[in-house]
Amino acid sequence: IKKIGVFTSGGDSPGMNAAIRSVVRTCAYMKIDCMGIYRGYQGMIEGDFKPMDARSVNNIINKGGTILKSARSLEFQTKEGRKKAYDQLQSAGIDGLVVIGGDGSFTGALIFHKEYNVPIIGIPGTIDNDIFGTTYTLGFDTALNTVVEVIDKIRDTASSHNRLFFVEVMGRDVGHIALNAGVGAGAEEILIPEENLGLERLLESLKRSKASGKSSSIVVVAEGDKTGKNVFELKEYVEEHLPIYDCRVSVLGHMQRGGSPSCFDRVLASRMGVKAVEALLEGKSSLMVGIQDNKITLTPISKAIKGHTKIDKELMRVSDIMTV
Ligand code: ATP
Repeated sequence: IKKIGVFTSGGDSPGMNAAIRSVVRTCAYMKIDCMGIYRGYQGMIEGDFKPMDARSVNNIINKGGTILKSARSLEFQTKEGRKKAYDQLQSAGIDGLVVIGGDGSFTGALIFHKEYNVPIIGIPGTIDNDIFGTTYTLGFDTALNTVVEVIDKIRDTASSHNRLFFVEVMGRDVGHIALNAGVGAGAEEILIPEENLGLERLLESLKRSKASGKSSSIVVVAEGDKTGKNVFELKEYVEEHLPIYDCRVSVLGHMQRGGSPSCFDRVLASRMGVKAVEALLEGKSSLMVGIQDNKITLTPISKAIKGHTKIDKELMRVSDIMTV
């Protein structure tokens, strides 16, 4: 490998810049060239490349988003698009790739590798923590900190007015953000897609909570929860069946994807970037860097995109106990 191309793809997450910095600096350390590819696969198709040296990633470890920009590319999902991308890589002399993104980006990477045999290593960058083969994805920890900080603020106003707040958090089809931030912020109830206990149970729990003397309550709702009602319908349902509560809804939205990465995410990104470049230099491909038992690991991308993450049962139990 003589020249590695690095790019970010799909949804952005905090820590992507720290990962770019790590890849670029590891290349400099190993004395190989590094090229930044802008706007993910779309930029690859258009040859939107820029050579990067150790100094071109100064002062980005603390920045949210991605300096290389991200994009979703429909063209890359076509054979013609991928041919153009390959031709651009060839003419730029790029012979290895590091993709920082989610499962869609990894799927594209596998298809591309099968067609053109360009070695490619993935770094999981998404706040949802929904990728198999790593205990933590880049950005998850930062998103948790953001959500907890916001719920703390919501709690101030909730308790001043004796209100019940439904707070919707991101996470797509999984409840990792909801469960972890819910426990961290002391939520009364946490609704996650992995375990739908039904609306009856929610009403019972809220009734108990009120009877026990609580003046305000926070219910954290994962965006993918399976109660069959969206967060606004949930609020109406509870108001109708439990008129003792004055309810409000807060949908946190894209703020969860932004902000300066936590120290945990910066360290994780730095470790993952080094491993990604080392793996390419060792002749490996189609693997995703992860962290398991605090060790940096490599998992076949094919497994990472097929496997499902499991919700932490022990944490669910802790959550139940805390809401006694
Ligand atoms: P996030 O989960 O954070 O949104 P992601 O990587 O899953 O990130 P996607 O939008 O699903 O985001 O995928 C990013 C890009 O990867 C797509 O825009 C497309 O260019 C490429 N891609 C996804 N699926 C395929 C596929 N089947 N074939 C080729 N390219 C694909």
